[in-house]
Amino acid sequence: MKQRSKTQRENLNLNHIVSLQFDKAAKLLDVPEGLLHQIKACNAVYRIEFPVRFGDTYEIFHAWRAEHSQHKKPVKGGIRYSEFVTQDEVMALAALMTYKCAIVNVPFGGAKGGVKLNPRKYSTEQLEKITRRYTAELISKGFIGPGTDVPAPDYGTGEREMAWIADTYDAFHPGQIDNLACVTGKPISQGGIRGRREATGRGIQYGLREVFRRKDGLKKIKLSPSLEGKTVIVQGLGNVGYHAAMFLEEEEGCKIIGIAEYEGGVYNAKGLKTREVFEHRKNTGSILNFPESKNVPHPNVLLETACDILLPAALENQITKENAARVKCKVLAEGANGPTTTSAEEILLKKNVLIVPDIYLNAGGVTVSYFEWLKNLSHVRFGRMEKRREEKSMSELLSAVEDVVGRNIPSQIRKKLSYGPSEIDMVNSGLEETMAEAYGEIVTALQTVKGCSDLRTAAYAVAINKVATAYLQLGVFP
Ligand code: NAD
Repeated sequence: MKQRSKTQRENLNLNHIVSLQFDKAAKLLDVPEGLLHQIKACNAVYRIEFPVRFGDTYEIFHAWRAEHSQHKKPVKGGIRYSEFVTQDEVMALAALMTYKCAIVNVPFGGAKGGVKLNPRKYSTEQLEKITRRYTAELISKGFIGPGTDVPAPDYGTGEREMAWIADTYDAFHPGQIDNLACVTGKPISQGGIRGRREATGRGIQYGLREVFRRKDGLKKIKLSPSLEGKTVIVQGLGNVGYHAAMFLEEEEGCKIIGIAEYEGGVYNAKGLKTREVFEHRKNTGSILNFPESKNVPHPNVLLETACDILLPAALENQITKENAARVKCKVLAEGANGPTTTSAEEILLKKNVLIVPDIYLNAGGVTVSYFEWLKNLSHVRFGRMEKRREEKSMSELLSAVEDVVGRNIPSQIRKKLSYGPSEIDMVNSGLEETMAEAYGEIVTALQTVKGCSDLRTAAYAVAINKVATAYLQLGVFP
């Protein structure tokens, strides 16, 4: 019997894993059990099978939209295009969105959508048809709308798909002035916001800055409190992985020593130039054979290569019971959703790996999505009204200082000081503040919730307490 349980296969169902993570924190909190069930349950799932006609053929697509919690409205979450997507996965990702929004104080409930397909197998025209039909299905059942449910990009989707969704929604709701706020992650020319494309990567940069600012957590893993010179391995050079690696390398002085994609990986102990690796992959169709680097034929090898920070930014279940013991990073920075299984986490925590959890670290995307939604509802770009006014009043102040001291401020310094913030400055400032504030709350929970000894459990504790408070204040209707 003992032998069998030793060889038992790990349950990789993301819904199961998220449920275990929730329970680990919930049992430490003073929240009524019934309420915990309500917080944990997925409120609604819309399962769809819809046909799309390509010439003379018809193809049926399986798709979902899960709305996990309406304690705040609208609900919010990305749309995933993947041949592996399942209903359970969409429900789990929707739950993570609820907790993530609570952690970063974004006033949304959690949701997620998925269409079961491999986008690489379809032409742009076909993807447009599929996306528009999926949107029409969501509209027909009220699973999309500026005040109800607001999708965004996720694995396999991006600005292009979001523009199609916005346009389809607009066609079904002619003349309604807030239509653009039905989806975020749109191109800037279609109501998007500067900084959204790179927001999740930026959030990872800001989040890791917070982690590396505090000495306490780093002492245990023998790392100095600065990102400068830290070695990083990234899995997945998509939206999240590319931007996070690029900012860590170019603005924080990290050394990106390994990058893995699904076709393999590249390694250079002296550091890779993320932008060049990205261009190389775009031009040659593969990450392999990047100049002055070593090919790593199987991408998973890089997950087990020594580094300071391992950044999985592809998909869930990458670090499991099977490979966790061989993982040699000091910090596991979860860029992807659900990259670490519960059994793997137990192994890593015993090895003193500092796990910075997905529900905090990749929340930059939804934070800037919130800013985009606000921009769409206010119909004005951030900074448009105040930029020039701020520049003028700062310039007047500097002139007054010059008059008093009897000397001119050098023009370069004057230019810098009197610069009024643009939209991207305001977005990044809001994101940095959000990530710093949220990390502070997580660390406080780590220090004050009895029995809490890791960042994920602390982050869940923060989220559960906030959602519980919302439900308690709202009451139950009828
Ligand atoms: P993406 O499609 O832009 O990029 C994912 C990349 O991972 C692709 O380049 C893909 O080829 C690569 N990949 C797939 N399998 C791999 C493997 N086994 N090894 C190495 N690379 C592999 O997706 P994304 O938007 O960057 O999302 C990545 C993860 O981040 C997902 O878990 C997603 O849910 C999460 N996330 C995304 C956002 C966002 O704003 N896009 C926000 C929060 C969380």
